[in-house]
Amino acid sequence: MPTRTGAQYLAALKARQTEVWLRGERVTDVTIHPGLAGGAKAIASLYDLQSDPAHRESMTFTDPDTGDTLGLSFIIPRTHEDLVRRREMMLKWARTTCGMMGRSPDFMNVTFACWAGSADYFGRGRPEFADNMRRYYRYIAENDLVLTHSLINLQRSRNVSGTFNLQEGTALQVIRETSAGIIVKGARVLATLGPLADEIAVYSPRLAQHVDQHSPFALSFALPCDTKGLRFLCRDSFDQEKSHFDHPLGSRFEEMDSVVFFDDVLVPWDRVFIYGDVGLLNGTASITHSSAHTAHQGCAKNLAKCELVLGVALLMTETLGNSHLPHAEDRIGELVMYTELMRACMRAAEADAELDEWGIMCPAPLPAETTRNLFMTAYPRMVEILQLLGSSSLMILPTEADMDGPLAGHIEQYLATDSSTARDRVKLFHLAWDISCSSFGNRQVLYERFFASDPLTRARALTAMFPKQQVTDRVRSFLARD
Ligand SMILES: Cc1cc2nc3c(=O)[nH]c(=O)nc-3n(C[C@H](O)[C@H](O)[C@H](O)COP(=O)(O)OP(=O)(O)OC[C@H]3O[C@@H](n4cnc5c(N)ncnc54)[C@H](O)[C@@H]3O)c2cc1C
Repeated sequence: MPTRTGAQYLAALKARQTEVWLRGERVTDVTIHPGLAGGAKAIASLYDLQSDPAHRESMTFTDPDTGDTLGLSFIIPRTHEDLVRRREMMLKWARTTCGMMGRSPDFMNVTFACWAGSADYFGRGRPEFADNMRRYYRYIAENDLVLTHSLINLQRSRNVSGTFNLQEGTALQVIRETSAGIIVKGARVLATLGPLADEIAVYSPRLAQHVDQHSPFALSFALPCDTKGLRFLCRDSFDQEKSHFDHPLGSRFEEMDSVVFFDDVLVPWDRVFIYGDVGLLNGTASITHSSAHTAHQGCAKNLAKCELVLGVALLMTETLGNSHLPHAEDRIGELVMYTELMRACMRAAEADAELDEWGIMCPAPLPAETTRNLFMTAYPRMVEILQLLGSSSLMILPTEADMDGPLAGHIEQYLATDSSTARDRVKLFHLAWDISCSSFGNRQVLYERFFASDPLTRARALTAMFPKQQVTDRVRSFLARD
């Protein structure tokens, strides 16, 4: 099957009987539910872009093994050119959603492309798991499926050592084996895009602190989202069913986050990639380098987000007539710096990419991963800058109904500025508000703080991969100078 269109994605989603719960009710059709339909439409628009003949060349590639046309985010990069082409494609998707859908399908596509290329790693547990991985990659790539993923076990208590108490009864584990597969039970967070996905992937970086060598908690597998016993519990929707004028981002890009309950779910053997082997599970992201590939996808998302915030900030100062004032220039300069740092790290990750032991062109991990750590504090600061630049204008927000209502004349007379009509000003500041003040905007801040794990874990990970001896040797040699 060639790449999907948006309509094909929506039709498949509609037909899928995934058990999705929102506001106390089971959602019967996510494609028309007011809290979810906007996000589904946004994902559909990505598929439309990919299958648009005008963009096909830059959004797809020909599979060397089968001759099939596949979405470019599924490519297993073998050259620097592959990596750059893939990123250009991902940046197009990210710009389509203004960087507001961090879990757009490319996130998981690059993960499984990397794992298919390094499938022998999974075969170290059991040889058949390597074949499972290759077959599964081919299945999702050829059917152009959307994946969600849930990595984190819920916990009842916290230990200062950071060790997970996996015996509390909440963590996902295998409760028995059958000839058909493994039966799993427990709960996982946080499946962003869960209700809008075709498949769910389950793996975990968090058994890293687990001490046993073999464990029923050590798992990597994938399932259709409508598998029996799987339940997705959504938070409330941030799509408040307002117009694009009133709620420009929330009405379009609600990707939804959900808790996933697994009630005695059967995972067929051919969908299992790791089972029981703690060391293999813990090593997956670093040894296959999937973390570097998803970080590279994150670079594109971050750059698109920086461009949006910077562009909005520039228009805000232009509209308010303060772009020449020092405090505004100072803040704009800071936004430019974040934007250029993202671009520089992204390009460094590509320029310093190397073929890994699997023959995959791997983005240089340090600059790619640095963007994740940087964005944990940079994005909240960028949002703060919009608040500082916007001040009361972020509250001078008549709704679309007001713009044509009885006070339309007053609005036009008093809210216009020297450089903007009242309508353009209000429209722009609705966007600035949706980035910096709305519940949708605040969720984006939370996302950037935590989507790639908590800050301490990220800091440790970055420090662990940095070649420390280079710098300590330099200091030692300075200290040794006469
Ligand atoms: C919007 C959003 C979307 C997400 N999407 C996904 C997704 O699609 N898939 C997925 O798998 N995950 C997703 N995540 C989950 C993400 O992986 C986790 O939030 C992240 O790993 C942090 O784990 P946690 O939330 O359990 O935080 P916690 O472990 O509860 O940490 C909370 C805070 O407490 C601190 N802390 C933790 N333990 C200790 C301790 N022992 N002592 C002192 N301080 C401590 C942490 O440093 C942190 O600051 C998402 C998260 C968010 C917010």
